[in-house]
Amino acid sequence: MPLQIQPIPAFETNYIWALHDDRHCAIVDPGSAPEVLEFLEAQDLTLCALLLTHHHHDHIGGVDALLSRQAVPVWGPADERMPQVDRVVAEGDRALVPELGLEFQVIETPGHTRTHIVYHDDARLLAGDTLFSVGCGRLFEGSPAQMQRSLDKLAALDPDIMVYCAHEYTADNCRFALAVEPGNRPLQRWAEEVERRRAQGAITLPTRLGDELAYNPFLRTRESSVIAAARAREPASGTDPAEVFGVIRRWKDSF
Ligand SMILES: [Zn+2]
Repeated sequence: MPLQIQPIPAFETNYIWALHDDRHCAIVDPGSAPEVLEFLEAQDLTLCALLLTHHHHDHIGGVDALLSRQAVPVWGPADERMPQVDRVVAEGDRALVPELGLEFQVIETPGHTRTHIVYHDDARLLAGDTLFSVGCGRLFEGSPAQMQRSLDKLAALDPDIMVYCAHEYTADNCRFALAVEPGNRPLQRWAEEVERRRAQGAITLPTRLGDELAYNPFLRTRESSVIAAARAREPASGTDPAEVFGVIRRWKDSF
């Protein structure tokens, strides 16, 4: 059985991603345990690893309960707020899930939190709360310049990579992005598709990185249309990507 990646919905908007074959399962950011345990049982899967992106409760709240049933490697960044991590990884390190033949590269993406990391291989990016479809994480512990640098690292990956984000925020993000770039045709088309999917209760993820480059304003801070929108919003702001990013992020926070 080839690798499957399935979302386990939790809380209001979270997706806990499950990577599995017909026997083993690795779980990304288990914010809640009951939904994960139910998933494992329903599919008759054995948990083999946890991959954590950052310390927020809706990403790690289920870790202790899962570990109390079964000890598995817990990958994550060095952060005193995540004591369960026993496979500490940093920029350029690899996270291995041999049961599934997976080998991820780690990228540090400070901004949403100080120690946020993401995992990627050639085909997929486990983005946590750094990158969403048509959006990005709020800056709780980082500066616009830091987050801009983090997103630049992700934007440099293979455009065909599929991005597995941790929240279903796409519809709201599209409404905001259309305020920034009302004339962006790929964005208009994706917003319609998102509307259609959400009306059917369907998921809008994963999303292709190359598509995000065409319509995610937070990846487009060098585009003249986004720069112009930022200048119109805060006329005193500069035009370098970090400043444009800062304006767009503040705008989104109060949208
Ligand atoms: Zn978060």
